[in-house]
Amino acid sequence: MQHITLNNGVQMPVLGFGVYQIPPEQTEQAVTDALAAGYRLLDTAAAYGNEEAVGRAIKNSGIPREELFVTTKLWVQDASAEDNTLRAFETSLTKLGLDHLDLYLMHQPFGDVYGQWRAMEALNRTGLAKAIGVANFYPDRLIDLILNNEITPQVNQIETHPFFQRTEYQDLMREHCVQHQSWGGFAEGKNDLFTNPLLAGIGKEYDKSVAQVVLRWLTQRDVIAIPKSVRAERMAENIDLFDFELTDEQMAAIATLDTGNTLFFDHHDPAMVDWLAKRRVN
Ligand code: NAP
Repeated sequence: MQHITLNNGVQMPVLGFGVYQIPPEQTEQAVTDALAAGYRLLDTAAAYGNEEAVGRAIKNSGIPREELFVTTKLWVQDASAEDNTLRAFETSLTKLGLDHLDLYLMHQPFGDVYGQWRAMEALNRTGLAKAIGVANFYPDRLIDLILNNEITPQVNQIETHPFFQRTEYQDLMREHCVQHQSWGGFAEGKNDLFTNPLLAGIGKEYDKSVAQVVLRWLTQRDVIAIPKSVRAERMAENIDLFDFELTDEQMAAIATLDTGNTLFFDHHDPAMVDWLAKRRVN
């Protein structure tokens, strides 16, 4: 597995396994299968409700802790954000059965963002979170956070797939040494991604599936990908992408699929901000 070095020297696998929308009762088996398929980066969140099941799969796998890279995410915290954040972190750690996290992400750019970030900086300084970062931060919020705090986020996990490629944003993040991580790399299958003729045609040249072409395209751009699947055969397919390389022409062809717009929701939409900020977790 290839690794990417984050701005604080931490090494992060370029490909991992995401568990969003896997029901808790299915998660232990899914993570067990993913670990058996070779994934070592696991991506969960307090808001997914399946941290305990992820923790059980980790424990039962017998894989040494230092070989794993575990990410979870802090849900939106308001008043007394610093105390609440430390409590939320402890709760996640306990549910996962771990004594430290490899990456702790602020899940949304809402609530008392600066209070949350200060607490996350403290967790990073004590080594309880080896790396810290954010998710769903658009450029304006990210730059403001960087300019007004001591620690620059190591990672920004944002919607990124062939229909919303974030190329210019990746350049800006590079400038600030923030690692780009994709969520929804398959756009959850929207826009008929898995039967897209351009992607299928490229795949045919290498005897690879659309899923493999998409993950190869992301990782070849140095974007960390965390595909989700509950099927063992797809987990194996999705990790089998390090034996081919897309040409410059193929990368340019895939670039034409970009619409420049979200297929999910806009974090600037007031109704969505209201809905996300009022959701309570823990
Ligand atoms: P995704 O990975 O884009 O797509 C998952 C879908 O693709 C599932 O329906 C899965 O079905 C299907 N699939 C997987 N491999 C396939 C293959 N080889 N061929 C055909 N279909 C395939 O969606 P996602 O789960 O939303 O995103 C990935 C991860 O990003 C999440 O699990 C989560 O960890 C993270 N995420 C973060 C945020 C955030 O706000 N930070 C938001 C969303 C997601 P089966 O399961 O039936 O195989």
